[in-house]
Amino acid sequence: MTQFGHQQLVFCNDQATGLQAVIAIHDTTLGPAIGGVRMRRYATTDEAIDDVLRLSRGMTYKTAVAGVNLGGGNAAIIGDHRTEKSEALLRRFGQFVDRLSGAFIASLDIGTTPRDMEYIHMETGHVAGLPSSLGGSGDSSPFTAKGVYYGIKAALKELYGNDSLAGRTVAVQGAGNVGEHLIAMLREENAKVYVSDIVEERMIEIANKYKAVAVSNTSIYELDVDVYAPCALGGTVNKDTISKMRCRIIAGSANNQLRNEEEDGQLLLEKNILYAPDYLINAGGLISCYAEIAGYGMSRTAELTENIYDVTRSVLRKSINEQIAPYRAANELAELRIAAMGKIKK
Ligand code: NAD
Repeated sequence: MTQFGHQQLVFCNDQATGLQAVIAIHDTTLGPAIGGVRMRRYATTDEAIDDVLRLSRGMTYKTAVAGVNLGGGNAAIIGDHRTEKSEALLRRFGQFVDRLSGAFIASLDIGTTPRDMEYIHMETGHVAGLPSSLGGSGDSSPFTAKGVYYGIKAALKELYGNDSLAGRTVAVQGAGNVGEHLIAMLREENAKVYVSDIVEERMIEIANKYKAVAVSNTSIYELDVDVYAPCALGGTVNKDTISKMRCRIIAGSANNQLRNEEEDGQLLLEKNILYAPDYLINAGGLISCYAEIAGYGMSRTAELTENIYDVTRSVLRKSINEQIAPYRAANELAELRIAAMGKIKK
């Protein structure tokens, strides 16, 4: 906590429901700490603590660079989400969140569902990303996809001097919720799209629906395309895949795309592959949660998401001018905003 300046770490224990959870609040300079609530098994409590400390810090950078007035937090409920989850456990967790008086705002993450958020919300108002039937912002994937679309266009502009997608080639890995929305937007503007998914049926369905080209998940790295858009899982950009890559830009929604930020960031710089930082361009979902908290309508959510275009351009320009990796450029912009807002904090 001292090394990275975390503000608070909360341990939640309740024998009656079997709840064991940790909540980390990294930084609230910009506003209350928003963070996903993940539920999964951990080998040790230390592992859960490491997870929430790392993820809450990442969220501080994400909110700062996205330009929203929220800080960074994260929570882990320790246990198997398939067998150990119950209404009582989630509502008890909600009571712990409520005791933090709004310093932490809970949202969806791995192992939790909109229904779980509903249970947490029964005990506390400090929840975001609720289903639209409960007055929440609902499915975040269309906004996430829109942010990625702006990130891709900003990178094209930086590289080619224009951001038109017509005739550009984009390889989308993962035809899930975000992937499908993204492919729809790319095809709408006449980009040529390649798609891969480990679920073959899904890949074929999406390829047929949007007239995209289905490709195997191993050959996707070797395609000679303008953009590789990882929209499946993290860690796909690493020294093995980078050595095969022939794309000019990497811009997608998956979290933690670089397996090793330092080393892989450097390899991409050396190979002249422009990398639009994941946590910046996948912030559309976060922005829709922010709009829900702030009471903004859809048009404001759309405006804030569109801002990802300008921020991505600033980050890429800073990266090129200073010859630093783009994720580092994004981190520095986030730190500048937090430091500046820290000066006017009441
Ligand atoms: P999803 O589960 O709907 O889709 C993921 C797709 O990837 C699935 O179709 C799955 O079959 C496929 N897939 C899994 N492993 C694969 C592999 N090895 N190769 C190819 N395909 C594979 O998830 P989503 O909501 O579309 O999110 C996609 C990514 O974006 C995830 O990494 C997620 O963490 C990240 N993300 C999503 C949001 C959001 O709002 N949904 C926000 C920020 C980040």
